[in-house]
Amino acid sequence: MKRFHIITIFPSMFNSYLGESLFKRAQKKKIVAVRAYDLRAFTKDPHKKVDDRPFGGGPGMVVKIQPVWDAVKKIKSAVARGAARRGDGSSSKKNKVRVILFSTRGKRLDAAMARRLTKYDDLILICGRYEGVDERVAEHIADEEVSIGDYVLSGGEIPALALVEAVSRQIPGFLGKEESLEEVNGSFSTYTRPEIFISTKGKRWRVPPVLLSGDHKKVAEWRKGLRGPR
Ligand code: SAH
Repeated sequence: MKRFHIITIFPSMFNSYLGESLFKRAQKKKIVAVRAYDLRAFTKDPHKKVDDRPFGGGPGMVVKIQPVWDAVKKIKSAVARGAARRGDGSSSKKNKVRVILFSTRGKRLDAAMARRLTKYDDLILICGRYEGVDERVAEHIADEEVSIGDYVLSGGEIPALALVEAVSRQIPGFLGKEESLEEVNGSFSTYTRPEIFISTKGKRWRVPPVLLSGDHKKVAEWRKGLRGPR
């Protein structure tokens, strides 16, 4: 089983998405476990603050290192206890943990990275907010920084969902039909009924005839020819 531990100031954001469809089934079948931790629960600030003003000035606030450090430490020791209980820690199969920080300056998430990350048993994902996270988290706590694209989002929550899903799809049993794994079979256009769709203006939009031919070899060749981005 693969375990994802998400550190965020909005843990409830994850419930609806992860409570449906493939994730609902995969968690029930114990293929993956996803848990969101409230960063605020780890702050030692008397006002429960997790952010502060940036040194050197400038707009916005910065996520403090202290609650992140405490959250990662607590999750890591719970992970080690779990591994010891299962006997993973003592045998040749060592429980592997990776700490990831979402950052606009991180390495771009792609299919190769998703495949690489399946080799870890536990992924600890740190979601930034505000103007970002105290850089010492990247320097001393995270093993790597990940970006999901060249654009700025308001927080690491959507990046975390993207990573959890991209990695989970690579785990055997997560997808109902393994053959729907596009990363393996290549990407191609798909059509379904009706064969001819008539628009409100009377235009007739047809399905490529080869797909209706019943000739599986020809269909496979046609799909092969479509691989790659448009
Ligand atoms: N001023 C910061 C942006 C902070 S956005 C900068 O220039 O880097 C707030 C948080 O959202 C970030 O700390 C990061 O955790 C997350 N985030 C925003 N866009 C992201 C992206 N494209 N990929 C990964 N994480 C992102």
